[in-house]
Amino acid sequence: MSSSTHQFTRFSSDTLEGMFDEDPDSEWSLRIYKELFNKEEGLQDSEFNKHTRRIYKVWPRDPKGGGKPCLMSDLRELSAGYRTNNSYYLWGATILDFYMFRSFNDECADVMLGFSSGSKLYAWMKAHGELYAKDELEWAEMEEKPRLRPAADILEIIEAKNLAILMGSCGISMRDDDDDGEAEEESDESENETISAIPRPFDYENYPDPWPLVPFSSKAPTLQSPIPFHLLPETLIVHDPFRLLNGGDPPDELDVDWTSVDDITHRYSLNLTVPSIKDSIAAERAKMTEAAREGGPVFIGFSLEILNRTETGIGSSSTAQSGTAFKLTVPSPPASPSSIPEAHLFISPAEFVGKGHHSVVYRAEWDLPRSVFSKYVICHRCVVEAAKKILSKDTISNAAGDTSGASDEVGPADEIVGGNFILRKKHLPVIDMNFVREGQPEDENTPCYSVRGETLDYLEYTGESIPTIHVDTVPWYDSSSTDPAPCSHLAVTSSISGPLPGPVPPTASVSVIAKLSVYDDNHLENEAKCYQSFGEDFSQHWSGYTVALPLRDPTPTGAITPNFYGFYSKEEDKTKDNEEKVIDRDSFLSPILLIEDCGKPIEVEKLSLDDRQECAALLFRLHHHGWTHGSFAHRNIVMQIGDHGDFPLMKSRNDRRFRLIDFGRAWSLKDAIETDQSSSRNGDNSNEREWKRAQFQEKNEVWKTLMFPHPI
Ligand SMILES: [Zn+2]
Repeated sequence: MSSSTHQFTRFSSDTLEGMFDEDPDSEWSLRIYKELFNKEEGLQDSEFNKHTRRIYKVWPRDPKGGGKPCLMSDLRELSAGYRTNNSYYLWGATILDFYMFRSFNDECADVMLGFSSGSKLYAWMKAHGELYAKDELEWAEMEEKPRLRPAADILEIIEAKNLAILMGSCGISMRDDDDDGEAEEESDESENETISAIPRPFDYENYPDPWPLVPFSSKAPTLQSPIPFHLLPETLIVHDPFRLLNGGDPPDELDVDWTSVDDITHRYSLNLTVPSIKDSIAAERAKMTEAAREGGPVFIGFSLEILNRTETGIGSSSTAQSGTAFKLTVPSPPASPSSIPEAHLFISPAEFVGKGHHSVVYRAEWDLPRSVFSKYVICHRCVVEAAKKILSKDTISNAAGDTSGASDEVGPADEIVGGNFILRKKHLPVIDMNFVREGQPEDENTPCYSVRGETLDYLEYTGESIPTIHVDTVPWYDSSSTDPAPCSHLAVTSSISGPLPGPVPPTASVSVIAKLSVYDDNHLENEAKCYQSFGEDFSQHWSGYTVALPLRDPTPTGAITPNFYGFYSKEEDKTKDNEEKVIDRDSFLSPILLIEDCGKPIEVEKLSLDDRQECAALLFRLHHHGWTHGSFAHRNIVMQIGDHGDFPLMKSRNDRRFRLIDFGRAWSLKDAIETDQSSSRNGDNSNEREWKRAQFQEKNEVWKTLMFPHPI
């Protein structure tokens, strides 16, 4: 067996490709690549079959064992092991956290019988006292837990856009029409007055120059962050000068000038059609009121003072620093908004995306109050500085004393003793991996590769308790406000562009998908219901990988669906009486479904096998969580280039991200069962059976739709 050692952090080793990227020239990478895939490097033309996301590691079994067989089904039932709310039951931080394993200890059994995640195998082995695979157990112990991968901060992206607008490099002012030279001079004179008064949201007349902009002239950033249900705007003013809300075909001439026509607006209101959503919004608001009333100090971290550095002497694997520690608390932040009354939406044929049998889709500009993105931050550095001042002034206001007990009482400065801490470093051991191919025995030709893990820092507190310092002199700052940051530290970090050279408006435009219904069709309404029932789980991005059966390879645990940004219906005309209203095709105004823009439909023949498996996994994960899609096809899988976690300029061409869309025919198992239960015939489960049949059929179509080499 030949091996080589190469250092990389386990978190970048998501794919075998990722490892090659770390060190593309090294001998071992070329060799393993050749041996595993029987190919040379740089194979552009065979990308279609590229398949590097696999389970490479083998969990060795104790040859002297003979205990209970370890079966995949047992591991599935095991409640231990990591998973996320939108993953299959197997989850691993990287592809190196999945293993093939033999169910029986018997050495003769060469065939790999099962595969599972490191955290599940760890739990099973520990429970059954099989501690033979020391390295693997240790590796599993240090596995990073699933964590949410949030989108790049939309406020920072908006601020960068605002800077570009203020510098005149993008956006056309609505005011430019009036006149050029003279008007500008005039505005210069009045500038000092207008800066001080911040206009109310949507008071467009009084926005600071050059706002308001001609819609679509500044290429608004794509919104990729979720908006919680309770912050979806209650009222939507829709600007539709080209009369697209009728849901008919878009005009022949798509390249239109917004300022060439008179604006037409309609009042729409948020139409949440799933009763449980309304309950959860009410609960969320009640929780916020409760939190605001309770107030009380919030713990924000520790103040540490390192007093000495010591080698602990346990080999070279652990060095330590030690010193004193204080807990820091501050007053609780001001209440964030609990509702957003209004937003504006602009639709233009220039941003036509596509038309299907049931819907017409546009990319729309959504102008939102900045408070939707309200986020209170406090400067940790300023708090630490203030805490040091308090210490040096010989007095400590121990406001949190009631919660932490009398032992936290601290006397004058010369007697102050903080809690003690030791900052330890731990190095992960070298771990050998054998790249065994499924169905092949392990022998001297099996490529082997050693991984040296990263160094971890962790704090260990010693002593009775750690005293608390309460700091109430540092202000909270709402980073969505247009006020300047309270200190220079926050000013630098709150914006990639630093302080802006002029005032910005109280609203921010983002780009979203607006889906309209054709006349007399209920698919859009069903789709809106589905998005509400999905809740937030399906649109969350998690770190790591899942194996979504019947696939046998890991795929990323990104979002399954786009974010849902609300379902809006034309406000009823209150003056009319209650008689049944018949709306004819001409006066029809479509409801509007707002969702995240997740890119263009895939072209299957341009995707690698890794990519296509990822697309299939989206459907299998949806199935696993009790839903059928109802129209799984190329056009309903969209792809975008670049990761949602990267800022627009930092997005990589190599990151392909996929999402399922179009849930007009989606159906949940829960609904099917409820329909059965409410049926008059006792014990009727025809809907449930129908749902399962639909799911089975959908699974069977995947391999053809995604051009897999053989059925899965
Ligand atoms: Zn500061």
